Amino acid sequence: MAAKSQPNVPKAKSGDSVTNDRTASQGQWGRAWEVDWFSLGSIIFLLLCRTFIVYYFIMACDQYSCALTGPVVDIATGRARLSDIWAKTPPITRKAAQLYTLWVTFQVLLYTSLPDFCHKFLPGYVGGIQEGAVTPAGVVNKYQINGLQAWLLTHLLWFANAHLLSWFSPTIIFDNWIPLLWCANILGYAVSTFAMVKGYFFPTSARDCKFTGNFFYNYMMGVEFNPRIGKWFDFKLFFNGRPGIVAWTLINLSFAAKQRELHGHVTNAMVLVNVLQAIYVIDFFWNETWYLKTIDICHDHFGWYLGWGDCVWLPYLYTLQGLYLVYHPVQLSTPHAVGVLLLGLVGYYIFRVANHQKDLFRRTDGRCLIWGKKPKVIECSYTSADGQRHHSKLLVSGFWGVARHFNYVGDLMGSLAYCLACGGGHLLPYFYIIYMAILLTHRCLRDEHRCASKYGRDWERYTAAVPYRLLPGIF
Ligand code: NDP
Repeated sequence: MAAKSQPNVPKAKSGDSVTNDRTASQGQWGRAWEVDWFSLGSIIFLLLCRTFIVYYFIMACDQYSCALTGPVVDIATGRARLSDIWAKTPPITRKAAQLYTLWVTFQVLLYTSLPDFCHKFLPGYVGGIQEGAVTPAGVVNKYQINGLQAWLLTHLLWFANAHLLSWFSPTIIFDNWIPLLWCANILGYAVSTFAMVKGYFFPTSARDCKFTGNFFYNYMMGVEFNPRIGKWFDFKLFFNGRPGIVAWTLINLSFAAKQRELHGHVTNAMVLVNVLQAIYVIDFFWNETWYLKTIDICHDHFGWYLGWGDCVWLPYLYTLQGLYLVYHPVQLSTPHAVGVLLLGLVGYYIFRVANHQKDLFRRTDGRCLIWGKKPKVIECSYTSADGQRHHSKLLVSGFWGVARHFNYVGDLMGSLAYCLACGGGHLLPYFYIIYMAILLTHRCLRDEHRCASKYGRDWERYTAAVPYRLLPGIF
């Protein structure tokens, strides 16, 4: 049964001075309604290629010890045919299907049946029932934030198994990596298709659905904004966080266990990758309430891009460094390891502080200190599809006064650190930084386009005050 969205829209403040006399037309600042040929071409290309890219990377590790050129050279020189490579690829197995079903069911249960208790005893942690942002149609959804709890319980069980219970080997994920890939794909495609059908026939909030008239665009970028089943099962929050991000640290732990099994020890590079990525994952769950205000939840509709991306792309490609280190047990020199650690920590610091500054600023409506001072503000306004006028503020101090997306710079530094931990032997572990650079640059442009439509002249005032997007003086 579809959940009822909460029509709990903040009222426009009558009497406030309206600072934006050219606000975009009502409710037009969400996802596009019309698709140009370039977007359509890119989408069809991604739909066709992304599944293949994941297969290629994982197969190159399995059959060519992570040498990306290996399959191409073999095929070009006639040493192997496509059918030979395919024949050597492990198929889906009953064991993998059972494991994957158990895993997803367990995460669904943690998500739906266990209201958050972490916020009751962890000082500073914000969990339990929280509100998301105002959608283009003017809806404010409520969310049950219990991701940290799910992560903790899952990992507690993992360590209890590894050290006490011995129900399964900690290498279980690595040992079933390709059979699990087929299961993840089945779920990714199934959930994206279901979301599309649901958007047409029984949407959760019809007012926040968008139809472009183009099947591929609708399938890829989603029709429904916040599809739900029942009152609390929110597709975006669940799929991004649970099968994807909770799994991330478990996958890395399984790779570390495999490295120990194969090579007798865990290298410092593997420890660095595990630690730096665990910081990122724990940060995500500690700040899950903040995540409700990020682009994934606030602006993206739920389609194949998020559904398949969360099930397949994230767990398989964000963990390539750990996978690579199973095949290549790199042991870094102390200066190299310290350099990687420092880069990762400084990147994380910028990422966290920048995101925190915006979050604090928005939560307190600007009544806070940023770098010890009262923040500089640009007042702005916008109109949602229901005709309501809303007021908001843009922060011009702290990292948001250095560049308009300095949080992305911190993220990119952290991403580079994971890759550098793998040394210089192969290109494969560097895929992550290349991908993140493209993703975040594109995201930056996409977000700015949306903000310009939403805030009109107020956004122009912000870009005049903070002229650079990512790196001052460069871009
Ligand atoms: P942001 O957190 O940067 O949010 C952008 C939104 O913030 C804008 O749409 C606007 O929303 C608001 N905003 C923009 N400028 C200002 C300002 N000066 N003051 C106040 N509000 C402002 O974007 P993301 O959601 O993309 O990123 C969140 C984090 O997640 C980033 O650190 C990013 O690096 C990370 N990330 C990681 C990914 C990964 O795969 N590892 C993928 C994507 C993101 P509004 O309409 O509310 O005004």
